[in-house]
Amino acid sequence: MGELLPILILVAIIIIAGLLLARFGNSRHYEIELTFKQLMDYYLKKHYCKSCNNRLKRIAKDEYKGEGWSSIMNTSTHAKKYKRTYEMHCSNCGRSYQSEQLNQ
Ligand SMILES: [Zn+2]
Repeated sequence: MGELLPILILVAIIIIAGLLLARFGNSRHYEIELTFKQLMDYYLKKHYCKSCNNRLKRIAKDEYKGEGWSSIMNTSTHAKKYKRTYEMHCSNCGRSYQSEQLNQ
């Protein structure tokens, strides 16, 4: 349970962020799908580039999915929808890594 706690807090933060965006009519809805392992890789663990050993930085990529109604915890809003994915990026040599590639 002790190890799960930071993950649960992160999940809660993501949900709250989504709710706030919806409430204030900021009209952007981000859909984020992360497995626990991906959450660990992108948020909690430190990773280093396999080519040059530089510290990797998390970057978010948003894919526009069109406008529409979305419902977050029973609140419906008309919003621009984005699907957000992450990758780890090396600013030194420009290599990018997905979660699956980090632990090979
Ligand atoms: Zn590098």
